[in-house]
Amino acid sequence: LFITLEGPEGSGKTTQIRYLATALRKAGCRVVTTREPGGTPIAEAIRTVLLLSKRKEPISVQAEALLILAARSQHVTQVIKPALKRGAVVLCDRFSDSTMAYQGFGRGLDREWLAQANAVAADGLQPDLTILLDLPVAIGLARRRAARGQQNRLDRETTRFHRRVRRGFLALAEQARGRITVIHADRCVEDIRAEIEPLALRWAAR
Ligand code: C5P
Ligand code: MG
Repeated sequence: LFITLEGPEGSGKTTQIRYLATALRKAGCRVVTTREPGGTPIAEAIRTVLLLSKRKEPISVQAEALLILAARSQHVTQVIKPALKRGAVVLCDRFSDSTMAYQGFGRGLDREWLAQANAVAADGLQPDLTILLDLPVAIGLARRRAARGQQNRLDRETTRFHRRVRRGFLALAEQARGRITVIHADRCVEDIRAEIEPLALRWAAR
């Protein structure tokens, strides 16, 4: 069983994955939690390059996408597929939908191409269940600023970009209604948890 959590920064994906892992383990599942970009030494090194690029040198939209896809290929091959084969439940913080939302809808890369490249990177693997934590852009950005201790300065370009990303996620959810469940993330952690847990447990019981 392969479950992914998607949504913007500040939507609470990491927190919910921790809760979900505990609930699934209590239900008797073996659970592997991981994240993208990252999840293996090579993929984590690529993540470092991606974050470094934001400070030291601008990265081209194409280079960013190719690095993310390279990291995914490594992650799927080394970690996700072997874990699924052993019968574990894999919980992943971001996956292909983030690539479509950020690099496709957000940065404007051709989505047909991205879908094809992604199928190569993911080696055909698709999540069984994707939980999309959706929340208004202003709230996500405010949570991020709070977490980083930055002052309350709203960057117009940033807001526009994140609006495209949010619309992208929601468009993807429309196209893949059987797989993606949209959860309103502008609520307290407990309420969100109470909605997500039964979904995942139902899948695990199949
Ligand atoms: O998962 P997390 O919220 O920690 O994301 C790390 C950073 O990478 C964020 O700034 C996110 O917006 C960015 N990202 C991206 N494109 C992706 C995945 C993440 O720009 N496909
Ligand atoms: Mg997180």
